[in-house]
Amino acid sequence: MDTEDNNFRDRIGTMNAEGKRAWVYPKKPDGRFYKYRTWLTWFLLIFLIASPFIHINGNQFMLFNILGREFHIFGQPFWPQDFYLGVTAMIIAVLFITLFTSAFGRIFCGWICPQTIFMEMVFRKIEYWIEGDRGAQMRLDKEEWTSDKIKKKGFKWFLFFLISFGIANVFLAYLVGSKRLLQYVTEGPLENLSTFIALLIFTGVFYFIFSWFREQVCTIACPYGRLQSVLLDKKSVVVAYDHKRGERSLGRSKFKKNEDRQELGKGDCIDCSQCVQVCPTGIDIRNGTQLECINCTACIDACDIIMEKVDLPKGLIGFYSEENIEKEEKVRFNSRMKGFAAILFVLVGILSGMLFIRTDVEATVLRLPGQLYETQENNIISNVYTFKLINKTTGSFEDVHFKLLSHKGSIESVTHERIIVPEKGLAEGTLFIEIPKALLKDEKNSVEIGIYSGEKLIETTSTNFMGPRSFR
Ligand code: SF4
Ligand code: SF4
Repeated sequence: MDTEDNNFRDRIGTMNAEGKRAWVYPKKPDGRFYKYRTWLTWFLLIFLIASPFIHINGNQFMLFNILGREFHIFGQPFWPQDFYLGVTAMIIAVLFITLFTSAFGRIFCGWICPQTIFMEMVFRKIEYWIEGDRGAQMRLDKEEWTSDKIKKKGFKWFLFFLISFGIANVFLAYLVGSKRLLQYVTEGPLENLSTFIALLIFTGVFYFIFSWFREQVCTIACPYGRLQSVLLDKKSVVVAYDHKRGERSLGRSKFKKNEDRQELGKGDCIDCSQCVQVCPTGIDIRNGTQLECINCTACIDACDIIMEKVDLPKGLIGFYSEENIEKEEKVRFNSRMKGFAAILFVLVGILSGMLFIRTDVEATVLRLPGQLYETQENNIISNVYTFKLINKTTGSFEDVHFKLLSHKGSIESVTHERIIVPEKGLAEGTLFIEIPKALLKDEKNSVEIGIYSGEKLIETTSTNFMGPRSFR
């Protein structure tokens, strides 16, 4: 192979020999997978944009208010007290991504990642609409600054800015809540200058990424992309070029009508370079699996169209593992994938179980540190406690009181006559638990307490009750 063909070993596709940026002009994709991606994009974009503006029972559908320590996921409020759920979800997500990637490669990047969705399915489409396809874009960039070029570039950058501003607003709605965002909009930027400046900074970052930095997010900046080399192996199913079929003994060569390439030993690749031209990260998939490949499948579509035109079977580029290509076998749901699927199923089951048993109210009743029990009249033993009730819902709990569930005895709140736990708020105070000495079995007794709002049991909790060492 000549040195030019081996350049991919020394530098990424978006860099020239001098180490400068080589601008990528991907050809407009078309084909089966592109259609699927377009449908998925519509769904994901609607979900992404609509989520902060939908409210369920007064809760925003998706909210990540880090400063206000308020999180809503699918309309369910989560609080810092639910941190353990977040950690569990994160561990499961990391495991999911790791297992999924080693089984199916970087498919998340090409199909679900917001960076690819906005870059390839929104900004790139605007570029095709205004500047035309690959060839027209290349010619336009080489042209002098004529009025036509100024008009086209100016209009494109203006639209890019508007969309970046829109994305920044949606982003803000996720962070501070859509109601607060609408309030900022009604009050005007001068009333909320610091927020407006932050919004403009985010707009600038999005504009920079989508108008200039582009595919470099995936090829240089993204840590997930860097992980590919340790996550993929010979069994991983990724977008791959079937080099056995594409090259055969004589390698790839241009198409000639009416020749039997297989009999001649020529590969099925007709070296048309359509798969390279269509690639948004500027790589040649025929050089093998590369870190820059985001599994967008544009090259599969491009090659399938060519194969159809030259009357050869489709699938020269497709979803294959290295082992599939070597053994010339089809992709199967193998035992490794089954094992991974089973692990993920169990993990998702654990998370669902944890979410299912999560309560709307969190109650803690703790013995006051340093306080001993007291013996009252009629051999009644009493202990003093602090309590904390956290209401995770958007409605308040009225007439809240405590009942002993495990023992005959009483609970008296010292600080409140009637406890009200406000929406998304908490109530704290002190209480006494009194139990007849005869009912205590040990020096340290576990007692169960029911927390009621009116007649309705809203939570149960347990605590320790101390008594004298010998009772009888
Ligand atoms: S599109 Fe297919 S035939 Fe054309 S160069 Fe790529 S692999 Fe070869
Ligand atoms: S090689 Fe193919 S799948 Fe990978 S990024 Fe390029 S076009 Fe997309």
